[in-house]
Amino acid sequence: MSVTFDNALVESAERRELRASVAALGRRFGREYFTTAVREGRQTDELWREAAKLGYLGVNLPEEYGGGGAGLSELAIVLEELGATGCPLLLLVVSPAICGTVVARFGTEEQKRRWLPGLADGTTRMAFGITEPDAGSNSHRITTTARRDGDTWVLTGRKVFVSGVDVADATLVVGRTEDARTGRLKPCLFVVPRETPGFEYRHIPMELAAPEKQFQLFLDDVRLPADALVGDEDAGLLQLFAGLNPERVMTAAFSLGMGRYALEAAVEYARVRQVWKAPIGAHQAIAHPLAQARIDLELASLMTRKAAFLYDAGDDMAAGEAANMAKYAAAEAGARAVDQAVHTLGGNGLTTEYGLASLLTASRVGRIAPVSREMILNFVCHHTLGLPKSY
Ligand SMILES: Cc1cc2nc3c(=O)[nH]c(=O)nc-3n(C[C@H](O)[C@H](O)[C@H](O)COP(=O)(O)OP(=O)(O)OC[C@H]3O[C@@H](n4cnc5c(N)ncnc54)[C@H](O)[C@@H]3O)c2cc1C
Repeated sequence: MSVTFDNALVESAERRELRASVAALGRRFGREYFTTAVREGRQTDELWREAAKLGYLGVNLPEEYGGGGAGLSELAIVLEELGATGCPLLLLVVSPAICGTVVARFGTEEQKRRWLPGLADGTTRMAFGITEPDAGSNSHRITTTARRDGDTWVLTGRKVFVSGVDVADATLVVGRTEDARTGRLKPCLFVVPRETPGFEYRHIPMELAAPEKQFQLFLDDVRLPADALVGDEDAGLLQLFAGLNPERVMTAAFSLGMGRYALEAAVEYARVRQVWKAPIGAHQAIAHPLAQARIDLELASLMTRKAAFLYDAGDDMAAGEAANMAKYAAAEAGARAVDQAVHTLGGNGLTTEYGLASLLTASRVGRIAPVSREMILNFVCHHTLGLPKSY
């Protein structure tokens, strides 16, 4: 059985073809390749390069800068399908989706020429740092501050949980500048190349079986040229959300792929494992939760496509609401599918051989990052339902 969503009325022939070819690439590498790389502390570079060669990594970026000229819908398909074969590339959430989008939409011509071709062909990777130790979910409290000094910027602050800094050529750092007129702080985005003096990163050991690692960042008087600032100093929030909406859609795709992978493994197992008269899949206590997982994943998939569609159509406001809902739904569906899959395998669900137990922690990531489920519920309460703001 293949847990795919393949109705022609819901998805175009081109997108279904893309799904099929990405899935074929994922299967060529397979879960074993991925878990071996994790065990050996390696990156999944071979898969990254192959996906790049096939044009998948920059499928959403503009053609004139080497991208595929498609949209977020296509990039989300790439991540979901790789995940469904057990090979999710987490950096797709960050490098082409957030950073590529922000540079493509708000960068100067020079910034686009400098960064986009590499992001599109995978030879350049960019991490994204917004979370701070003392701000957490409340990004309005970030204190990483950029000060002008002649034609340069001087950036100082701390970040935490930033993924992939060790393999990224640069990190897109969310800081704040001081508004000269009002003294208020405003969010601004800076590209900080990894080797810039004053930029240091320290690995945070995590209980996650993933090749991508998380880091603390220390920025101490990091001096950057004027063109390190991406976009308009005065439109920071708008620009930031233009990158954060793709991040939510991609995180949804990440959860969907993982949930589908786990569900497929559980269904295969339930079909053949027999301890009484019939395979365990004949017991409704095993079969019904798997059916529910399938329904939840399918629903979340539809919401994810709606969010990507709205984003690609240029409706940032509507995309924001839909992307939050999609991320919530997919994270919940993914985590429940993984949990049920592990349970379906009984003792084997916890063995290294069957490779599902490590997904228990991985599937929780979607519930926490980039925005926790409680913060999404807060958003829906306040923005969608019009209830008083609780925080
Ligand atoms: C694997 C992983 C990768 C990550 N990668 C990146 C990255 O690349 N770049 C980056 O910048 N960040 C990254 N993050 C950070 C992530 O975005 C944060 O962990 C997330 O935003 C939550 O912040 P926090 O961990 O500080 O939790 P906190 O903000 O401390 O929240 C803790 C708990 O309190 C709850 N809570 C907080 N406020 C409220 C409220 N008002 N109402 C109800 N409940 C509330 C939260 O929902 C959560 O359950 C990553 C995190 C993980 C786990």
